[in-house]
Amino acid sequence: MTTEESFTPISNLLKLLNIEHILDEVDKNSFFPLKVPSSFVDKIEKNNPDDPLLKQILPLKSELENVDGFTPNPVQETEFMPAVGVLHKYYGRALVIVTQKCSIHCRYCFRKHFPYSENNAEKEQWKSAIEYIKSDTSISEVILSGGDPFSISDAKLSYLLEKINEISHIEFIRFHTRFLPTIPNRITDNLIKILEVYSNKISIIFHINHPNEIDEKLAEKVKLIRNTGIIVFNQSVLLHSVNDNIDILSNLSKKLYKSGIVPYYLHFLDKVQGASEFFVSENIACELISQMRKTLPGYLIPRLVRENAGDMSKEYMPINSRLTKNIG
Ligand code: SF4
Repeated sequence: MTTEESFTPISNLLKLLNIEHILDEVDKNSFFPLKVPSSFVDKIEKNNPDDPLLKQILPLKSELENVDGFTPNPVQETEFMPAVGVLHKYYGRALVIVTQKCSIHCRYCFRKHFPYSENNAEKEQWKSAIEYIKSDTSISEVILSGGDPFSISDAKLSYLLEKINEISHIEFIRFHTRFLPTIPNRITDNLIKILEVYSNKISIIFHINHPNEIDEKLAEKVKLIRNTGIIVFNQSVLLHSVNDNIDILSNLSKKLYKSGIVPYYLHFLDKVQGASEFFVSENIACELISQMRKTLPGYLIPRLVRENAGDMSKEYMPINSRLTKNIG
């Protein structure tokens, strides 16, 4: 796919970053093992065990502790799967588990316990997913997720887009991907050509959590995508010790915008088992957004949202109403 798929073994990573002294804290046998591409490693600061990018990817023994309220399936997705690899929970939108593969393993991932073996549309080449979407004319948007939809080959992606585009009631196709900050070279000229064919339907939501994930190369790739007319957004997860800080969130919004990406969602952590160390309380989350509103224009303020199991849409979390009046 690209020349940049080399993933770093855990001991090499610690050595490279000069933090071998934390080896005892690391879970070397995690069921969701370390997976990080070299281009993401390059953005991690050396000699810093608290680096915010490192925290997102390093499996720690503390993940093994059971914490009340943190469960394997926090948003109960499997209860809303009418066909193999199709999640149909919200009106008008169906999400396809395109593949189980990702460019990186994020420690906070709410799908890390997801039963991909039974619910991965790739295993039967998206056949029943396409059939299901075809059969329900109320669906106007297909969301390509996973795993990461950019993990599949260009040929497969092209085939999938062609099949979805043939369905007359589909007006929008949305990608959710973390490839941009992890393996930006995945955004090849060929991929751009494939996406461009459907640019009037496609939007892309990137998943970027910290300003240090954004560099010039990333911005160049965004420019290529935007040149096709495709609209791009970002969704971050609010993570303790990574981005739960007014300066970091403000800087993230500014860097995203300067790179051509609209800060769209700041997502409250889904309480998945093993991710409790990333939890940020509702009060602090709302306060952070309130503070951003005091200093930034409205278009740099992401919407603070939460997913509640069984709800018919995401919940927009209420921010202090007095401060809401200050939106620019
Ligand atoms: S890229 Fe997305 S799906 Fe993959 S591990 Fe990270 S959060 Fe989970």
